[in-house]
This record gives sequence, structure tokens and C-alpha cells, in this order.
Amino acid sequence: MVRHLYVHVPFCVRRCSYCDFSIAVRKRVPGSEYVHAVLRELDLLRNSPGWANPGAQPRGPEATELETLYLGGGTPSLLPPEALQQLLRGLVHPGLLARGTEVTLEANPEDVTPDSARAWRAAGINRISLGAQSFDDRVLKWMHRSHDAARIGDAVRTLRAAGIENISLDLIFGLPEGLQRDWGRDLDHALALRPTHVSLYGLTVEPRTPLDRWISRGATKLPADDRYAEEYLLAHRRLTADGFRFYEVSNAARDGHRSRHNSAYWSGRPYVGLGPAAHSFDGRARRWNIAAWEAYRRAIAEGRSPVESEETLTEEQRELERIYLGLRTDAGVARDAFPRLSAPLNALLRAGWVVDEGDKIRCAPEGWLRLDALVAKLFVAKELAS
Ligand code: SF4
Repeated sequence: MVRHLYVHVPFCVRRCSYCDFSIAVRKRVPGSEYVHAVLRELDLLRNSPGWANPGAQPRGPEATELETLYLGGGTPSLLPPEALQQLLRGLVHPGLLARGTEVTLEANPEDVTPDSARAWRAAGINRISLGAQSFDDRVLKWMHRSHDAARIGDAVRTLRAAGIENISLDLIFGLPEGLQRDWGRDLDHALALRPTHVSLYGLTVEPRTPLDRWISRGATKLPADDRYAEEYLLAHRRLTADGFRFYEVSNAARDGHRSRHNSAYWSGRPYVGLGPAAHSFDGRARRWNIAAWEAYRRAIAEGRSPVESEETLTEEQRELERIYLGLRTDAGVARDAFPRLSAPLNALLRAGWVVDEGDKIRCAPEGWLRLDALVAKLFVAKELAS
């Protein structure tokens, strides 16, 4: 039975300077062609043996207990409202959405209008993840974003007026020194809009992006590690003081507003993904679709599975993943995973990277900053202790 469904919408109007996602840049989105392909993939999955079946009646009146549906991208808000309605009707019985399913749409501010917001609400969308990134027009231009700062506040007010109150803001930190971005000011602007949730992304340089080229030819330079750390920790202090709780390395929420969908990923629960580049996980095996829209569309049109590859996790990989995911979140890792305190674990406790809560070990913000190194050290600790 599928409780968590992800649908990937690959279209964007342009490529942001830091983005290496497999997107399809389109001025006009082929909405009905896309919806047809995704619903056809759902039919193919229903008929494929041996894999969690999202067709366990999401269309039927006795529909499955779907808890979350997440439309991510790309830019899902580019889908024409009627295509989005058709997609949701095809995926999930409308009665099911009324029973408290969390339905998230990733949106860019410029796509939020009174008409689109009303149509999204009517289609069953009850949570928006808004790509704000910064409230500085210079910075947004540098990022190749297609909105200006004023549109972010307009979008939040428009969504609320349409009855969508559960709004998350995405923000990017760790920008090049030369931009002289005022991170504290951006956090103030974000908090003034009273979002229910904030997601933070530290800028990374991905190969073959405009940012990568700018850095290669010396036109820009990323901040030193200590400034990256200062900005991350400043966000923790500001958001925590404003009533948020960090429940994952990059995500903070007000009470009752954690992303139920992403929390399912982080607790290792099964999910099904549809659309190009979408991943699925049945608790043991993970598989993923062809990333390029045209190749995905062709596969579906020819009645072929769009799955590009799959891997089955070994018991050891699953254990490593459980620890990694636990440390990413405030759930932490059960204390009995570390039967005896070893020297490396003690060192992490003394450094303030992890907190010992008796029954579990969890990351402190300083540990989240260095999560990969911390997981490696804890694995050494675990090996020594067992
Ligand atoms: S809108 Fe998102 S997915 Fe599209 S190019 Fe920008 S960062 Fe990438």
C-alpha cells in the first residue's frame, strides 16, 4: 500500500545559475502531454509485478490511505491549472484529499496569481513550498531567478487569501563573498512573512553549471568555510528564537508543520515516484526513472517502463542509511546502536557535535554543519564499541 507519492515536474522557464537538475527549459509547458505520460506510467506500474503498487486504488472510491503527495521539480507551478487538476484527479480520488492528505506543490513566486492560487486550492493543494531564495534583487538576478523580491511577499499574501496557509520558504545561504549578500536581512524578511516552514540550502558548485564556469574562470569565489558556518548557525539562532524547531539538517518548522512527506523519506518509509528522474523505494530496493523529459516521454509512448536502474540495499547499507537518516533529523539514533561509549564518540560529545539524550544520540547544529564527517566518525565509534 502506498502512503507517500512523489510526482516530478521537470519544466523550468530558465536555468538558475547554480542548478544542475535534469530540467526541460520551456517557455510553454506541454501540460496535457505531461499529465498523460505520468498517468500512463501509473498504469504501467499498476500492472508490473513485484513492486509496491501505487495503483492500489488511488483512483478508486475505496482509495488507499495516501498520507502525502508531493509535486516537485523543476517548477510544478508552471503546469497550467487545468493540467494540474487533471493530474490530481488522475492520481488520487478527491475524497481522499479531503481526509487530511498533505498535498504539496513547489511553486515559484511569479507563478502565484489569485487565479492560480484558487485553482490549486480547489484541486486539493494544501501546502506550498515557495522558491524565495533571497529578498535582494541583485542576488536574485545573479541567481538567474525569474522573480524579484517584491513578488515573494505578494505570493505569500495571495496564497493566504486563497486559503493556503501552510507555506514553506526556500532560502539559499553561503553565497559568494563578492555579492555582499546580507543574510541576516534576508532572514528578517523571511520571518516577517510568518511562514510555517523554512528550508535552507547551502550553495554548492555543481559541474557544468553557470556558477561552475564563473568560478573556473575566477569571476566569482565561494565564501570561506567559516562564513558558511556562521550563516548556517545564524539561521538556527534566528529561526529558533522565532518559534521554529529544526527537525532536519536543512529544515525548520513551527509546531505541527513539519513536512510529512520529507519526514517519510528521512524515516526510511517506502514511497513511489512518478515522472522523469523520480525515485521510488520499497523499503529494500530503490529505483529511478530516466531523467530527460524527451526520453521519458518516448519510453512511456512506446509502452516501455521509464525505469533507468535500480539497486537493492544490503543489510549493511541499510544500517548505514538508518544511522545517516537518523542523524539528519532530530530523531537521532538509538543509544543502543552504540553499546559502549568509545573514544571517538566521546570526542564528538565533547566537541558539541552530538548530544547524548540517554536513549538516543542526536546532532547539535555544529554537528549538522559537518554531517558527513560526523557520520564517518560515528561509524568508527560504532565499530569500536561493538
Ligand atoms: S527553478 Fe529550481 S529546478 Fe528550475 S532551474 Fe531553478 S533551481 Fe533548477
